[in-house]
Amino acid sequence: MTTAAARFAKRVTIKESSLRTRMLEMATGLKDVIAMGRGDPDLDTPPHIVEAAQKAIASGATHYTHPQGLPQLRKAIADFVRSSGGADYTPDEIVVTAGAQESIFVAMLSFLDPGDEVIVPSPGYNAYHQAIELAEGKTVTVPTYEADGFALSAEAVEKAITPRTRMLCLINPSNPTGMVIPPSEIAKLAAVAVKHDLLVISDEIYGRLVYDNARVQPVAALPGMKERTITVDGFSKAYAMTGWRVGYFAGPRQLIVPMAEVHYGFAICAPAPSQHAALAAITGPQDCVEAARREYDVRRKAMMAELDRMGLRYAKSNGAFYVYAEVASLGIPASEFCLRLLKDGRVMIFPGSNFGDHTDDYVRISLLQPLPRIEEAARRMADVVAAIRAERKTK
Ligand code: PLP
Repeated sequence: MTTAAARFAKRVTIKESSLRTRMLEMATGLKDVIAMGRGDPDLDTPPHIVEAAQKAIASGATHYTHPQGLPQLRKAIADFVRSSGGADYTPDEIVVTAGAQESIFVAMLSFLDPGDEVIVPSPGYNAYHQAIELAEGKTVTVPTYEADGFALSAEAVEKAITPRTRMLCLINPSNPTGMVIPPSEIAKLAAVAVKHDLLVISDEIYGRLVYDNARVQPVAALPGMKERTITVDGFSKAYAMTGWRVGYFAGPRQLIVPMAEVHYGFAICAPAPSQHAALAAITGPQDCVEAARREYDVRRKAMMAELDRMGLRYAKSNGAFYVYAEVASLGIPASEFCLRLLKDGRVMIFPGSNFGDHTDDYVRISLLQPLPRIEEAARRMADVVAAIRAERKTK
């Protein structure tokens, strides 16, 4: 019998999971490891958000909410999305979930029949592969390349379409590359989705963390796109709220109704105190998001300068809080480099293959440590890089 769990486990390839386990085991035996692996902001949730949740709990927000989420939160989300250039959603076209992660799984389980194909960029956030697998769909990866700034190309997507293609996933800005898909390419991707009658999942969770004047074009706001797009977003990244588990999906009513049913089956509702925190986040002062964005920008520039000094190439990321660097030119696969960096340098980063990269050439460096720690991590990394180069020379 093939259970969903078995399919899920099979998808997380042995190589991938054993590497992660090895790295975690190795890290527990080491002192002073600088963790730059996970995508969990080191910044604290802003105090006004924490206080709002505390007040809500004290005044009884300890019960189930409306399954789709607090009406006032859904209205605030709709207002926010509209005012930031997204589609025009009504509150009943929004469902608050236990993180954007739940939204991804709900989307796949709501729309995929066994064997349906879903186009996912490679590299791309690994939850997509897992959710498609659980829904018995088939992941079709479309590679993105450093030479094109890791942007997903509409042309490549169109080539990957077959009669079984049901859905196209956009992760914009990208995890793990940190690249924003140029608005002109989003327009082309939208045209491809319309031409081939595809559903689009647009994950814009890093949409507010962009740099160098990059702009995220919400695909649902383009003509003819709202009716075929599910926009996924959340509070984890912009407001440093990973542990609160609150995100949302938005789409036209006819798609939202079946999805709301699946969400109800999964979670009944998102945690009530977290929804009150999210309400304070989205309706309160937004300078905390700008301060975080500026901080990540400083770290991003510092890391890129360090990689320049090391003579390593990287994607000139303009979004999220990751730098995607090429290490295979050192003569070792990225997964081996990560093990070596952890063992000898006590810095934890992940290989791109953890994110479905079709190569084992890149590493994802999370910028989620204070600047002095990032600088220290870069010093350690430079030593490991120098040692690897010296070993190659003597071979
Ligand atoms: N989407 C992307 C692209 C992510 O990188 C992540 C988390 O890393 C998520 C969704 C899940 O976020 P959440 O904490 O809201 O579940």
